[in-house]
Amino acid sequence: MTIRGVIFDWGGTLTPWHDVDLFAQWYAYSEVYDPEHASALAHRLCEGDQQRWRVQRESHGSISTGALDALFLDEGIDINGARHLRALGSYLDFWAPHTYADPDAKDVLAALRHRGYRVGVLSNTMWPRVHHQEVFARDDLDVLIDAAVYSSELEVAKPHAEAFRAILTALDVTAEESVFVGDRLWDDVMGAQQVGMRTIWIPHSQIPAEHVPDGSARPDATAHRLLDVFTIVESWQASAVDS
Ligand SMILES: [Mg+2]
Repeated sequence: MTIRGVIFDWGGTLTPWHDVDLFAQWYAYSEVYDPEHASALAHRLCEGDQQRWRVQRESHGSISTGALDALFLDEGIDINGARHLRALGSYLDFWAPHTYADPDAKDVLAALRHRGYRVGVLSNTMWPRVHHQEVFARDDLDVLIDAAVYSSELEVAKPHAEAFRAILTALDVTAEESVFVGDRLWDDVMGAQQVGMRTIWIPHSQIPAEHVPDGSARPDATAHRLLDVFTIVESWQASAVDS
């Protein structure tokens, strides 16, 4: 079967893995939103955030974290208020250094598209699409991505099969003619394999052990740098054409 689609995870795959202080992200928000009670608010937002990710993991992706707004609404925050929007700006500024694309990202996406592959992104994220689009546009990746699906817009998340089917549909390719590239053996590799996709693992992320309920998935290939993805896909394509 020839390959038509290559689909990437975002964090730890198209961006290098960073260890992020999860409390600090919420403190950056809270110190603008409510300076007097910043620490208490940050603790509540951090716990709400972690709880949503826990439920998503324990349900094997059949319940997604939902969108960032849901977390703020749980706290009774007016998400249209100026104070919230200023605080959200502070939160996004906190994240900005961790969102820059891998130095290979632009080259690998451009090379794949040049060879006619359709390029997709499937990310487990609470961020709305607009935040991701801004990041991709800043790094000149937006024009290299044919379709993107974010779990913040879905009822499900990776590793649930429906999350993978959503991006396959958006990209108009089948699982059998697609490759998934990700840094997580459970969410990405196991999830993509169960729907019939080939997988490439990016092995550099420090995934917490509790995030990997089952670490037994074996990727079809490992890419030690992102540009290797192009070489691997082309080698698979060559053997598909030969056979
Ligand atoms: Mg990832």
